[in-house]
Amino acid sequence: MASITLDSVTKRFGDDESIVAVDDVSLDIEDGEFVVFVGPSGSGKSTLMRIVAGLETQTEGDVHIGDSLVNELGPRARDIAMVFQNYALYPNMTVEENMSFGLKMSTSMSEAEIEEQVTSTAEMMDIGELLDNTPGELSGGQQQRVALGRAIVRDPNVFLMDEPLSNLDAKLRTTMRTEINRLQNDLGVTTLYVTHDQTEAMTMGDRLVVLDQGELQQIGTPLECFYRPANRFVAGFIGSPS
Ligand code: ADP
Ligand code: MG
Repeated sequence: MASITLDSVTKRFGDDESIVAVDDVSLDIEDGEFVVFVGPSGSGKSTLMRIVAGLETQTEGDVHIGDSLVNELGPRARDIAMVFQNYALYPNMTVEENMSFGLKMSTSMSEAEIEEQVTSTAEMMDIGELLDNTPGELSGGQQQRVALGRAIVRDPNVFLMDEPLSNLDAKLRTTMRTEINRLQNDLGVTTLYVTHDQTEAMTMGDRLVVLDQGELQQIGTPLECFYRPANRFVAGFIGSPS
């Protein structure tokens, strides 16, 4: 089970805790759902992802993954894969080594099982021909596929993606958008996807979470947010002009 529940989550930064990055956010995300987080720069999207990932501890509130509190789960039990905008691959390792590294570190699989899993994932991601290449020999889109492949090869419960396509050109973004949606449909992994791109927000997710200044503005299907924005902010940010 990989439902995710945020219960009045607040995160403050600074010596005097004067920066409120996330302000009393509560959310229920269902197992297998694809939820897109949108909002202007500084609205708390990345901080929220880092809290769900257990990389940052909230100042107040609880985060559950399934029935467990995220802060009580070790990294392995959390079983979360992340893809960020700067998806640094190891430059001196081949694609295969990049993809198998995490598996070797964190699982008890045999060499043969790891190789099998890496090969089948690479084929699914259409990078099967590139396993012996190093990242420097790949295009931006191929590198991004490797980053995605490296994340999903572990067969995670939860996928966190923080603006994973923002370094790609428009054409490649369109391709990768479709790719990520197809992948998520096939795997049924609960996915939290951060973007500031309007098209990604409107087309990719089951539901949209709109944030501004750390506060939840609206959660709903893209069409609900578009046609029935909860407030002026949502209307201005994604809603239809009325
Ligand atoms: P977004 O991803 O939506 O652009 P962030 O979550 O990165 O927003 O940031 C939300 C707010 O929290 C911003 O005001 C940012 O400056 C602040 N912030 C984020 N991380 C830190 C940190 N480690 N220390 C201090 N302030 C931070
Ligand atoms: Mg961010």
